[in-house]
Amino acid sequence: MLWPGIKRLGKELQLKRTDSEVIGMVKNCLVKMYDGNNRKVLELFFPEINYIDKEFLINILVQNKIKKYDWLIKGIRITFPEIIKPYSMSKIKDILLCITDYFEKAYPNDKPQCNKCGMKKDADVYYIRNSSLYLCDDCLSQYKRDKNNEDWEYKQVPTNYLSGFIGALLFSLPGILVTILLFVFLGRLAALSALLYVFLGIKGYTKFKGKVTPIGASIVIISGLIMVGIGVFTAYSVLILKTIESFDINRLIEILKIPDIQRELKMNLTTSYVVSGFYFIFQLFQMMKEWRKEYAIQIPRAI
Ligand SMILES: [Zn+2]
Repeated sequence: MLWPGIKRLGKELQLKRTDSEVIGMVKNCLVKMYDGNNRKVLELFFPEINYIDKEFLINILVQNKIKKYDWLIKGIRITFPEIIKPYSMSKIKDILLCITDYFEKAYPNDKPQCNKCGMKKDADVYYIRNSSLYLCDDCLSQYKRDKNNEDWEYKQVPTNYLSGFIGALLFSLPGILVTILLFVFLGRLAALSALLYVFLGIKGYTKFKGKVTPIGASIVIISGLIMVGIGVFTAYSVLILKTIESFDINRLIEILKIPDIQRELKMNLTTSYVVSGFYFIFQLFQMMKEWRKEYAIQIPRAI
C-alpha cells in the first residue's frame, strides 16, 4: 500500500512505482520508498560505500534523531517511525537529497550495481515476481529466457488434479485426531483444525503430484471443507461413544438419529463452517495468487 505522501514525493523526484513501493534513481543512488505498519521506509543503494561514507550516514541519522536503520549490501534501510502522526515527508525528502548529493560528489560517474550480476553496467528497475530488481540488460535477457523455459516446463507438467485431490484428503486425515482432541477433550471449537487441514492438504496435494495452479488451490480448499465436515461428525460420534461408555456402533447410529442430537450436530457443523469459512476464503485467495505460475516482467509504472 502506498500512501499519498510517498507517492507525491516519488512524483516530485520523477520516480516510478510498483504495487507496493516507489522506486528509481536519484542522482547516482537507487531509491526505494514504502509504507509499513506505523512507519515509512527509505532504502538507498550506493555505487560504493566505505567507512567514511558510513560515518557520514550515521551522522545524518543522529542529527535527525533516527534510531532505526539497517545496513544492506552497498545500501541502507532507514525506518521512520509514525506513532501518532505521519512522519514529515519534507524531512524525509531533505534527508534523502542530502545523502544522494553526498554520494554524487563522492562517486561521480559511478552507479549502483546490478542486483543479479553485481556489475556496474547500465541498468534499470524491473518488477519481477512481486519484487523490484535493478537489472542490467544481460541479466534482464537471462530472466526472460528463464521465464520462457519455466513457462514451457510448466506446460509439460500433467494436471493430475484427481490424484492431487486424493493426496490432499489422505494427508488431512491425521487432522481429524486434532479435531477430536479439541472438541471432545478440550471442549473447544473444532473449526481451529481447518488450519491443519489446509496445511496437510497442500502437503498431500503436492506429494501426489497435483499441478500447482489456481484450480489446484481450489481443490485443496474443497478437500479442507470436506475434512471439516468429516472431522466434526467423527468428533461428535466419539463424544457420544465416550458418554455411553461403550463402542456400540448400532447404538451410536440410533442416537445420531434422535432429532435433538441431529440439531446439535447441525449447529456444530454450521458454526465450524462459519468460523473456518473465513480462513478458507482467505487461504483460497492467497493460494490462487501464489499458485499462479505465470509471472510477468514489468517495468514500474509512472506515478
Ligand atoms: Zn546484471
